[in-house]
Amino acid sequence: MSSLRFICQRCSQPLKRNQSMEMSQEPEALMLISAQGEPGETQEGGPPSREKADFENLNDSASCRTLPGLPGRRMSWDNSNNFILLGNLGSVRTINSRQKAASDIFDILSGERDVDHPLCEDCTDNLLEQLDVQVTITESEIQNYKCCLETREWISEDERETLQEKLKGLELEEARLVQELEEVEKNQERTAADLKAAQAETEMLDQQEKQYRKDYSKLKWQKLELYDALSSVETQLWYSQIQWDQLEKTNIFNATFEIWHDGALPTINNFRLGCLPTVPVCWNEINAAWGQTALLLLALSNTIGLEFQRYQLIPCGNHSHLKSLTDDCTELPLFSNGKNVFLHNKFDQAMMAFLDCMQQFKEVAEKGGSGLRLPYKIHVKKGLMEDPGSGGGFYPIRTHSNTEEEWTKALKLMLINFKCSLTWVSLRYCQK
Ligand SMILES: [Zn+2]
Repeated sequence: MSSLRFICQRCSQPLKRNQSMEMSQEPEALMLISAQGEPGETQEGGPPSREKADFENLNDSASCRTLPGLPGRRMSWDNSNNFILLGNLGSVRTINSRQKAASDIFDILSGERDVDHPLCEDCTDNLLEQLDVQVTITESEIQNYKCCLETREWISEDERETLQEKLKGLELEEARLVQELEEVEKNQERTAADLKAAQAETEMLDQQEKQYRKDYSKLKWQKLELYDALSSVETQLWYSQIQWDQLEKTNIFNATFEIWHDGALPTINNFRLGCLPTVPVCWNEINAAWGQTALLLLALSNTIGLEFQRYQLIPCGNHSHLKSLTDDCTELPLFSNGKNVFLHNKFDQAMMAFLDCMQQFKEVAEKGGSGLRLPYKIHVKKGLMEDPGSGGGFYPIRTHSNTEEEWTKALKLMLINFKCSLTWVSLRYCQK
């Protein structure tokens, strides 16, 4: 049994031999379509007449038709077969020669056409359809060429010249268009370069924009922080203004020194100054009250620019004192420990010196039209406070040879004088 040996050169499908050829049981006929025969089955030198009959039988068994556009050439195939032989099968004698002839036929067919053989049935159909189309086109072109030749013969000399001029015009137009094309190509190159430059610039501008946005955000952040700081400062300013307004309305002397009374006893900043037989006051409190009074007198004298003569006033709480500027800087204590109070000489000297200082303040303050007018007179040399009113009299500020009532009365008059001085200083020096 021979096996299939051919492959379709277009779709690479294996080709099967003709069924009718197998039925003929003639190995020679089979070998015609086999590229490689089987030597053991070859029968060389068979009767030529029978071979011819087999091939005629092969041709008869295939349905035949004439190739379109190829008159005289026959195409042969069978609907049940899978491969085709093209061309006219000539004389075949031996298996080898038949095999060679088949290969040559395929080579010739492949060489003449741009198609390799053998082909399967489907590829052959496709090829034939393509050839049909080519033939149709070629015939149409032939007709056109014939028409042109006939028309050329009929065309007049004038028309020919006209067509020549038209041709020249078209050639010039072509040259112009070629030149224009070159210019367009040059422009395209320039435009491409410009585009590249523009893209680079765009990239640079993008970078700049990013940087600007960063800077902008930073500045905006700073602005918000500054707004916050400004708002805080404005709030502080508003609060300070309120405080300022309140302080402006505040009288510093009245706020610092409160002169009032506790029953029959005068007080300064809640410290009682003086004592009565019925109302004993500890000396610490009296000393503290003297300290506040000394501080007040010093503040008043500083306010009006007064420097005391003869004495230096040194407020120091409940240990305040005066220093004599004439007698070798003798210290006069403006406080007492309560022992031998009404015999104590230096305490009396200190209070007398204090009256001297107060008198100096009074004399300076009384100068001028808007001068101070104190309700109670001061007699420095005698150390007396004078009440010029209806229940008038003189009250010594000393304790020696004095009573608690009179001493306390003198201190009370002195503090009332100070209260008037506070009001006067506040109106004159502490108002705008
Ligand atoms: Zn094929």
